[in-house]
Amino acid sequence: LKFSEEQAKRKVLYNQIQEAKGNIRVFCRCRPLRKEEISAGNATIIDFDAAKDGELGILTGGSTKKIFKFDRVYTPKDDQVDVFADASPMVASVLDGFNVCIFAYGQTGTGKTFTMEGSEQNRGVNYRTLEQLFKIAQERKETFTYSISVSVLEVYNEQIRDLLASAPTSKKLEIRQASEGVHHVPGIVKAKVENIKEVWSVLQTGSNARAIGSNNVNEHSSRSHCILCIMVRAKNLMNGEYTKSNLWLVDLAGSERLAKTDVQGERLKEAQNINRSLSALGDVISALASKSSHIPYRNSKLTHLLQDSLGGDSKTLMFVQISPLEQDLGETLSSLNFATRVRGVELGPARKQT
Ligand code: ADP
Repeated sequence: LKFSEEQAKRKVLYNQIQEAKGNIRVFCRCRPLRKEEISAGNATIIDFDAAKDGELGILTGGSTKKIFKFDRVYTPKDDQVDVFADASPMVASVLDGFNVCIFAYGQTGTGKTFTMEGSEQNRGVNYRTLEQLFKIAQERKETFTYSISVSVLEVYNEQIRDLLASAPTSKKLEIRQASEGVHHVPGIVKAKVENIKEVWSVLQTGSNARAIGSNNVNEHSSRSHCILCIMVRAKNLMNGEYTKSNLWLVDLAGSERLAKTDVQGERLKEAQNINRSLSALGDVISALASKSSHIPYRNSKLTHLLQDSLGGDSKTLMFVQISPLEQDLGETLSSLNFATRVRGVELGPARKQT
């Protein structure tokens, strides 16, 4: 089978999948109990009995169990390889010209960074994605020439920061729309990566830059969105056509709600900005799921930045990350409700047009 035919077939297949299921998938991942949590007598409140059918039970107290349904439910035994296996067809579609967004959503400490970044021994979706893109690019070298660049950005308090910039810049980064309508951030570093060996160090540079200027790295990370953008330029050697597509991999700020009485000043501003951007993301995705005629992209920097890759022909995947602990029940239910709304299966009342 000639590659162009194979690709045409694949596009038809993708379109069928899209029509049948919509473009938005939600995968749920629960972090395992830590040793010290087990020795302190904690037991999980999550029931994974029907996980293989995409069902998750939450023991909400007494004999009651609340059931949620997603496209995938992982058990704490599922590792980085299992998780990536499900995400990989979607990430690979960026090489066929699709725009793709992947988010990790959830309370701080539930494994968002573990899923997306991972560690050197336990690499996450970001690294595995690039590894797969290089592998496929190599397999297709007779028919396509690919050029892959990456940017690493942070959105903190509704401001964009370039985590690959060699020197901190006081210049405010803004989202602009090019003449052909494409959204971009002029002036950011786009690091061209030629092979997988270069990738880990670029990702580390970005990750380390998150700490700069903050007293507490973990706290800062939990209050900002970290965004890896992979830009793919493809030249089809059969017909000379060029295509451009983007893949966004986003480790979102912690979704926990802070008790109003506890926060003031800078913390209050941070909390309001996180709240605003996560609600805006939920609103955009659910407006897309319900095929609303107006999609409120402009309500946050995050959704504005990702506008070209949310909706239309693009694909969206959200990892909803949860804790196994009873003490986190409230946050867990709130995250699962958010994810259910995003999945668009349970549609709410008619949306107000904004
Ligand atoms: P978040 O980014 O949501 O704040 P982290 O990714 O930092 O959470 O995870 C919190 C802690 O839990 C880290 O020490 C991380 O290594 C651990 N962890 C999270 N998910 C898993 C998992 N699936 N398997 C093993 N450890 C995990």
